[in-house]
Amino acid sequence: LVELSHVDKHYDKLHVLKDINLTVNKGEVLVVVGPSGSGKSTMCRTINRLETIDSGVIRVDGKPLPQEGKELANLRAEVGMVFQSFNLFANKTILENVTLAPIKVRHMDKKEAEDLAMDLLDRVGVASQAGKMPSQLSGGQQQRVAIARALAMRPKVMLFDEPTSALDPEMVNEVLDVMVELAHEGMTMICVTHEMGFARKAADRIVFMADGRILESGTPDEFFDHPKTDRAKDFLSKIL
Ligand code: ATP
Ligand code: MG
Repeated sequence: LVELSHVDKHYDKLHVLKDINLTVNKGEVLVVVGPSGSGKSTMCRTINRLETIDSGVIRVDGKPLPQEGKELANLRAEVGMVFQSFNLFANKTILENVTLAPIKVRHMDKKEAEDLAMDLLDRVGVASQAGKMPSQLSGGQQQRVAIARALAMRPKVMLFDEPTSALDPEMVNEVLDVMVELAHEGMTMICVTHEMGFARKAADRIVFMADGRILESGTPDEFFDHPKTDRAKDFLSKIL
């Protein structure tokens, strides 16, 4: 469903992505781990073209990424993204945050969009907050709204870039629980996270990045119990 082939990217002289090759199948949950600065966020951001690449090809659902215009908007609709900071529209209610894109981009009528939004808010456990403004919600609640908002576009794949790292510890699990549920429902997911419990529980495959390269790719058991490279062993010794 998502395919990166020989992807390279520089920021000026900094070579951030080096010959990245990665295929994520439909329904697969991929967890990306690695030291700070290894290029995890950059890789994620190339997949919905928030970042351009210098060479290589990225395909979503078999099609190379569009360059601009309507096709790019369609791609963004198919690739949901949830970031570390919640990025909700501060001057819109929770309900409006979730209905906005389906109405604008998917041309859904208001009633239909609101029904869908309420269903999704219910699924992530914040339906009772629908009329509030984002600032009235806790960080964990806001992040669950951000997930509902992405799901409202019926994405084919969801990208998560450290969705829990800005949260107070007691709110981390309420967000991870929603992600585990999505994973079990068969959503295709690419998750950058430092939550190794989540990685073990939810990942079909773990990719370890360091210095802009994918150094390892394997099942959670392979990666955690039998890391192959010294970089991965060193990384695991620091976080586990
Ligand atoms: P972290 O775990 O800290 O989030 P990361 O693996 O997500 O790290 P990236 O954010 O992808 O790493 O950054 C990879 C490298 O690219 C880093 O050296 C970073 O400083 C650099 N970088 C990221 N964004 C930019 C940018 N817009 N311009 C220049 N350099 C950048
Ligand atoms: Mg990052």
